[in-house]
Amino acid sequence: MRNVVIVGSGCAGNTAAVYTARANLKPVVIKGHEPGGQLSLTTLVENFPGFPEGINGPDLVENIRKQAENFGAEYMHGVVTEADLSKRPFRINVDGEWIDTRTLIVASGASARWLGLPNEQKLIGHGVSSCATCDGFFYRGKKIMVIGGGDSAMEEANFLTRFGSEVAVVHRREQFRASKIMLARAQHNPKIKFLTNTVVEDIHDVSKQTVTSVRLRNTATGAVWEQEVDGFFVAIGHIPNTAVFRGQIETDGDGYIVSKGGARTNIPGVFHAGDVQDRAYKQAVTAAGMGCMAAIEAERFLEAEGA
Ligand code: NAP
Repeated sequence: MRNVVIVGSGCAGNTAAVYTARANLKPVVIKGHEPGGQLSLTTLVENFPGFPEGINGPDLVENIRKQAENFGAEYMHGVVTEADLSKRPFRINVDGEWIDTRTLIVASGASARWLGLPNEQKLIGHGVSSCATCDGFFYRGKKIMVIGGGDSAMEEANFLTRFGSEVAVVHRREQFRASKIMLARAQHNPKIKFLTNTVVEDIHDVSKQTVTSVRLRNTATGAVWEQEVDGFFVAIGHIPNTAVFRGQIETDGDGYIVSKGGARTNIPGVFHAGDVQDRAYKQAVTAAGMGCMAAIEAERFLEAEGA
């Protein structure tokens, strides 16, 4: 029987692990599909307090994991495939192994959203990617396209100019969702070209098992054209990883956990932290903050239960 199981090993889950381990609760952290979460896929993080020169995302999340392990947190490979939260102890199935736990912290984050084009899934790993940090290297001297108008798209476009001969940012509207500073940085980068009011209609060429071109449409003029491209990076946001808890933990229409105040969910003893609930801020520092809150709430819950 565990005191605390933490689902997810990103900034939120690892911070919850630091706090619960330091409170002597011997937490176990289920690493999940993307160990380290979003930070492990990013480059320089310039806005996490305490690092005046910035810190690389993977280093930041790895440091928090080490800090948690120093206090006795245990990390387990695997993903949660099933959960029974109908009674306590809660039961969590991790790749076939059932774990009983008194409290649960859900910090499972959010995964990349895709455009939903028929050829998109077929070409993932063959020119289609959702991770510039992971795959940018393969497009040295090549034509790159980034889809999206948020901070992720700007960050990825800037990063990809290190590799590509040119980077086209395709955004479906005229206005950008990205913050002013990130947008300005991309706009001032001579290698980046912007295509606004533009949507992707199709990606080619599945028969060649590689991306060769895309069909684009300007929504203002109706013009349709083919554009050559080698690397196609989708940066249009994320979907919260809550499917395994569906029907038990209350979520909103998009699958984000509905907070019942602090880090509480609708189920006493089950807490949330990070992007799995947060559709507004989604920052490393807010995820860490929520991880801390979830840990303190779990600790108080266990104390009140006399565990
Ligand atoms: P986001 O802010 O939700 O932006 C998603 C973008 O993708 C929007 O421009 C959206 O267009 C577009 N989009 C969504 N669905 C689409 C579709 N089906 N087809 C075409 N375009 C579509 O997501 P994000 O950029 O991943 O950022 C998420 C959060 O992380 C934000 O709070 C951001 O500030 C933060 N972040 C921060 C940093 C940093 O500070 N270093 C870096 C990355 C992310 P519309 O605008 O038309 O809706």
